[in-house]
Order: sequence, then C-alpha cells, then structure tokens
Amino acid sequence: MWVVLTANLAVVALFVSSWNHARRWMEGRSERLRSIAFSSLLGVGTVASMLLSLPLHPGIFLDLRSSLIATAGYFAGPWGALITGGIAAAFRASMGGSGAYAGIIAIGVAAVIGLVGHWSRRGSEPTIRHLFWFSLGLAVMSGLGLFGLPIALTTELLARLGAPIVSLNFVATFIAGFVIIQGRQWARERALLRAAFVQAPDFQYIKDTSCRFVAVNETVARHNGFAQPEAMRGMTDFDIAPPQRAEMLRAIELRMLANGDSIENFEEEVEDPERGLRWFATSKSPIRDANGAIIGLAGVTRDITAYKRLETELSAKSDQFRYALQEMSDGLAMFDQDSRLVLCNEQYRSLFPLTAGARQIGAHIKAILAAVVETGEQVDLPADRQGWIETIAASQKEGGEQEIHLCDGRWMRIRTRPTSEGMSMVVVSDITRIKEAEVVALHLSDQLRVLAGTDGLTELRNRRSFDQALDRELARAARSGSPVSLLMIDVDHFKAYNDTYGHQAGDECLRAIGRCLSNSTRNGGDTVARYGGEEFAVILADTDEQSAAVAAEKLRLAVRKLARGHKGSGKGIVTISIGVAAVTPVGGESDASELVRRADEALYQAKAAGRDMVMCWGGPPARKTSSRARRA
Ligand code: GH3
Ligand code: MG
Ligand code: MG
Repeated sequence: MWVVLTANLAVVALFVSSWNHARRWMEGRSERLRSIAFSSLLGVGTVASMLLSLPLHPGIFLDLRSSLIATAGYFAGPWGALITGGIAAAFRASMGGSGAYAGIIAIGVAAVIGLVGHWSRRGSEPTIRHLFWFSLGLAVMSGLGLFGLPIALTTELLARLGAPIVSLNFVATFIAGFVIIQGRQWARERALLRAAFVQAPDFQYIKDTSCRFVAVNETVARHNGFAQPEAMRGMTDFDIAPPQRAEMLRAIELRMLANGDSIENFEEEVEDPERGLRWFATSKSPIRDANGAIIGLAGVTRDITAYKRLETELSAKSDQFRYALQEMSDGLAMFDQDSRLVLCNEQYRSLFPLTAGARQIGAHIKAILAAVVETGEQVDLPADRQGWIETIAASQKEGGEQEIHLCDGRWMRIRTRPTSEGMSMVVVSDITRIKEAEVVALHLSDQLRVLAGTDGLTELRNRRSFDQALDRELARAARSGSPVSLLMIDVDHFKAYNDTYGHQAGDECLRAIGRCLSNSTRNGGDTVARYGGEEFAVILADTDEQSAAVAAEKLRLAVRKLARGHKGSGKGIVTISIGVAAVTPVGGESDASELVRRADEALYQAKAAGRDMVMCWGGPPARKTSSRARRA
C-alpha cells in the first residue's frame, strides 16, 4: 500500500514540477490559456495517479487524484477545478466498478475543496501558512471520504488506511502547492529582471567571448532599427556600426576578455544621421561563470548628449564669468556662510597691497580685518579695534555700503550684499578720483558762493549778501537782546566827480573808499557792503546808537584822510555823509527794512544839513550828532 501511495506522490510531484517548466513556454500567453494548460496537465496527472491506484476492492481504487484536483481548483479557480475534475471524472467513469459513483463524487468534493481554498484567498497570492491549512483541510476531507465508500470496510481496514491516506494527501497537496508558489515567485522575479533589462532606458547588452550579442534590450534593438531584441542575437558590432568603429570596439572587448579588465564611462562622439552629433558613455565588464572563467561581457551605454551640452554651456559660461571677473576694474570677493573667502579676483587683492597676503581663499573675514589693523592700511579706525573687527564681520551678513580711507591716500567704496544662500558678495571700487573731484567741486562751490555775494567793483559784500547778513545779525540780536546799528553811507557830489574825472576814475574812487571803510571797521564784528551805486552800508553788531555814531565819525574822517581831490565839491576832497540807525530787538522780531529806512532817513538829513556829516535817526529817543558838533 505504501509503495503505491508513494508512487502516487511521485506522480503529483512530477506533474507539478512539469508545470514549472512548461510555464516558461507559456510566458506571454493569456491568463486564461495558462489556466487551461495548467489544469489540463494536472488532469493528466490525475489519470496517471489513477493508473497507479491501489485496488482496495473490485471497482474501488485509492490514490492521490484528489490532491491534484484540489490543487488545480486552489490555483486556477473554477476553470481549473472544472478541467482537472472533468478529466479525472471522465477517466474514473471509464474505469467503472462499484465505486465509480462514489469516486466521481469524491472528485467533485475535491474540486469544491479546491475552490473553497481559492475563494478564501480573496484574490491575494497564496502564502505557505494558507497553503498549510488548505492542505490539512483536504487531507481531513479525504480521510472522512473513506466512510462514504459503498462497501462495509472493517474497522481494522479503516485504521490501516486512514493514516496513510490523510498524511499522504496532506503531503502531496502541500508539496504541490509549495512547488507552484515557488515557481510563481521565480517566474515573477525572472519577469522583473527581464523587464528591467529589456525595458531599461540605457543601452544594455550581453556578448559572448566572440563579441557576438547574446542578449540586447529594447533600447539597443530600437536604436539599431530592429523591432525585437531577439533579432540582434548572434550579431556583432560589424553588423550595426561602421567598420572602423566596430574594429575599435572589438579590439577593446578582446583585450577585456583576455585580461579581465573593465572599462568605465568610456566616452564617445557618434554622428547620428537623424539627430546629429551624440555623446555616449559606456561601461563594460567581463562576466564569469561559477568557476571564475570569463564567459562573455556585459555592457551599459548611456546617451549623455544632454549632459555634455550642458557641460559645454556651463564651461562657456564659467569662462565668460572668469573673464568678466578678471577684466572688471572693481575688486570682487565672495564670502561663504562662515564668513570665509571663497572667491575673489586679482583686483580685490591689488586694491589692498598691504593686506593682499591675508586675502587668500579660505581666510576668515576677521583674519583679514586683523591684518588691516596690524598693517594700518585703513586710517580713521576707531580706538576699539577689536570692537571694530566684530562690527564689520557682523555687518557682512546684512549688507551695506561704506567709504574707507587708506593710508596711501586712496579712497575705497565697499559694497556688501548678502546672497540668498547665506553668502555675501563684496565689491570694492577705487573712488579716489571721485573723492578728489568732490573736494574740487566743494571748493568751487564755496568760491561760487562767495562770488555770488561779492560786489565785482569793490570786492565788498553786494546788496544780496548785505540783506542776508542784516537778517542774520538781527536774528542773533533778537536772541541775545543786544543792539544792532546800521550805517548808510553816500559819497557826496559823486555825479560831479564822475563828470570831472571820468567814470573810470569814479570807479577807482569807489574802490578806494571801499578799502578805506573795510580797513576802518572791526574784523568779524562789522559787515561792510556796497549797497548800490556810490552808497555803502555797514552793520555794527552788538553796538548801540552812541557807539555807532562814534564809529561812523571814524569812517567819515578816514575817508577825508584819503584826501582824494574833488574839484566838483566845495570841500575840495572826496567826502561821505553817514546816516546812523540802531535797534535793540527785545524778545521779538525786528524789521530789517525799517532799520534801513531809518538809516536812510538819517542819511538824507545829513545830506540836507550840508553833507560830510554823521547824522543819527531822529526818532525816539531823539538824539542827533554832527561832526561839527563833535568838533566843537
Ligand atoms: P549827493 O551828494 O547828493 O549824493 O550827490 P551825488 O552826485 O553823489 O548824487 P547822485 O545820486 O545825483 O549821483 C550819484 C552818482 O553816482 C550818479 C552815478 O553816475 C554815480 N555812480 C553810481 N554808481 C557808479 C559806479 O559804479 N561808478 C561810477 N563811476 N559812478 C557811479
Ligand atoms: Mg546817492
Ligand atoms: Mg552821493
């Protein structure tokens, strides 16, 4: 009995492992067709199993057909159960005998058990654990099936058959399922590897020791104009490349096969008739058998055209950038997140000759600033040098602009800009000439300002400047509460002077009087101006009317002292008349025009009183002074 059942077990194993081989031929066929082939094969297995069955009683046979039927249902579903069960049932029916009906029912039960197992998986792949319970279920059912036999078996017979039937059904089903699961897994892995090879975007190929293609992927086949990778099997590079290139590739490959060397990223430029010049990078290595003997080589070639173009573009851009960096007149430096110098042009160093040595790639900003302190390259540094270094280093991250003065007299403008990556860019410009021009411009503007307020003939202040000076003095006096006096001076009979001596002599006379007035007043305190024509004005700061009258008299005498001849005047010499007015603005504004008007009025009175005279404004507190009165 054991011999027969073991032979049955061998039948199960044989047919299941046959399927694992047959499966390879069925790859690429539809799922339905594979199921039919699988169930038919197992159906034939049930026939073989029945042929090797143990005749228990005339017409009653014991074998492992149930195991194969249930396995078919378990893996291939209703179709599997139907086909395998159908074949088994037909054969069993043809065998006939008293147990034929019971045998066919047992076949149906096995098919149902297979289907129950199939559906209980709910579409997921069977696991070993699931398979175990399924096999156990079938084994138990086959044991129970013994009770359904149409003959009255003795208890002794049942006890003898029960254990082998149950255990062998379990073993057969479990082994069959295990082999099929393993086969499926291998097939899946093989398909995955094959797909990875065949569908890889790179060019992948395997060659034998005669440099013939053994396998190529779809990319290689497509590139060479073949619909299927198999079409290239047995070809060499001479079939697909120009002879010169094929020869070169063959030489390399033969050397690799002889020495066992690999090549890595071997770059080639290849002219493609459709797409122009392309770049390829190839890596190849010999492949060895289990004993280490070289049996061929595997290669991967990548189209690196896009990368090459990018590289060329980048290199051109980098050249342009380097050129711009070298040719620009400014110094440029980049500092990284840690404030270390990562890039600079030569100008950056040459603009700072004393610290050029410290401005090296990798140098920290603080080390550079310390060198500046040490060499004294920058003047006007604050007394706290360490604090200065810390402040400048910290401001590096914020950006800004500063002008610095170097010890050799040059001026630099340093602009710092933080970048989005946390770095900072520093641009140094030599602004010495701009600074020099600035000084000249400042000087010129000073000169212009002076010229704008200077009278061209006498070089005294002009009317405009006088007005400003008077406003200023009055405002100051208003703040301090001190008096301000104004002298209005007019040359006597000047028209006659012009008429007698000519206009040029008149000009010279005005110049002489201007000089005389300037020389006879206090520097700083008094302001002498040409008011217009032959009239002058003197502002006496911090001077009351009485002192002003004294000062005016001094001026009148000084002009007299010039003793400039004037035939047109009764005095025989050039004289002046002076009107004096004073004001003490107390806690408020004082009116400049009112002061001028009063001084003018006093001047008019001096003229009216005979000229060559000083007259104070007659308003309250009225008090008049004349030269004659003084002299008297
Ligand atoms: P009075 O004593 O009343 O002041 O007599 P006056 O002749 O000085 O007065 P008037 O206002 O009649 O004449 C002023 C003269 O001053 C007229 C003008 O020719 C002369 N004068 C004004 N400005 C200039 C100047 O810039 N150069 C010269 N040479 N003469 C000037
Ligand atoms: Mg006049
Ligand atoms: Mg006059």
